[in-house]
Amino acid sequence: MIAQQGVRRQRDDVAPGGPPRLPVTVVAGFAGAGKSALIDHWLRSRPPGERWALLANASAVEPGAGRYRVVGGCACCNAQTSARTALVRLLREGPWNRLVVELDGAAQPAALVDLLRTPPFDALLLVDGIVSVVDATRPGPFETEPMHPLARAQVEVSTRIVLNYADRLTEARRAALLRRLADAPPFGRPVDRFDTSPSGQPTDRFGALLPGPPADRPGDAAPPIVEGRWPADQVFDRRRLQVHVAGWAADRTIEGPLVRAVGVFRTERDWYQWRFGNGQSSFEACAYRLENRLQMEFGAATPLAAWRAALDADLAGARIALSGDASHGARGSVRVR
Ligand SMILES: [Zn+2]
Repeated sequence: MIAQQGVRRQRDDVAPGGPPRLPVTVVAGFAGAGKSALIDHWLRSRPPGERWALLANASAVEPGAGRYRVVGGCACCNAQTSARTALVRLLREGPWNRLVVELDGAAQPAALVDLLRTPPFDALLLVDGIVSVVDATRPGPFETEPMHPLARAQVEVSTRIVLNYADRLTEARRAALLRRLADAPPFGRPVDRFDTSPSGQPTDRFGALLPGPPADRPGDAAPPIVEGRWPADQVFDRRRLQVHVAGWAADRTIEGPLVRAVGVFRTERDWYQWRFGNGQSSFEACAYRLENRLQMEFGAATPLAAWRAALDADLAGARIALSGDASHGARGSVRVR
């Protein structure tokens, strides 16, 4: 059953009442994974006439037009002041069509995204993509169970993975790695390939390897799913949200049952992931933070429109605005498919 109703996707490239925000792509990955080569490839293939700015650690970028350096450490932690200074300078020297931030190999991508969302940058920048580059010749941190903590932080935060040297793995091992990268929580993500030459130079081989998690692959008979997306500016009250989440998992008043669910929400304290399956609920801190997002899968006979209305009401009641921040409050959308 596929029912499209009430798609009310709000433009979120404009902060309410403000000028358009500069779109930002954040690139994470271990040292030597191929981040710089990938960014060079993007820069060379950007639309003609577009001005892009690149922010990276001093070791990763030669100074030059549109290139800004973070000195004295890592942009996510001990060099935040330098990163702020570089951001202010590059914003003054705009306008730009896109900013690409190349992270240090040891950086926590989530911390850098949070920095980009602190005033005054939250009104000027819009993080619309977080990409992690994975070196297939060094797959270990991504293959272990559980995943290496920094590898997990890179995968969990990513909206897309780019696999470098994909050809150098055996077919079975590559397939297992691809599945793991594409399907890892919270929502899964597409995996592209990008091959650099042995000297680190990019080649032109770039393309899709896996188009994302099963829910995003066309052709499968889609189960009844309610999905919601709200801009990252929207903040929820963690305590009230947890009460609603417990209610959704237990609700028998609207004919259920809820089969599976995953949601990521920005709260006043941190970003949290709610997962539900086999009758069990969990709620824990999460690196994903592109936007607030919810996916709920129901049994075949569930009246989804009633569920959507209930979710809308619950979430509206759990929304809060952080004091002194006027950019919150943009409405998102819940859709049924
Ligand atoms: Zn750091």
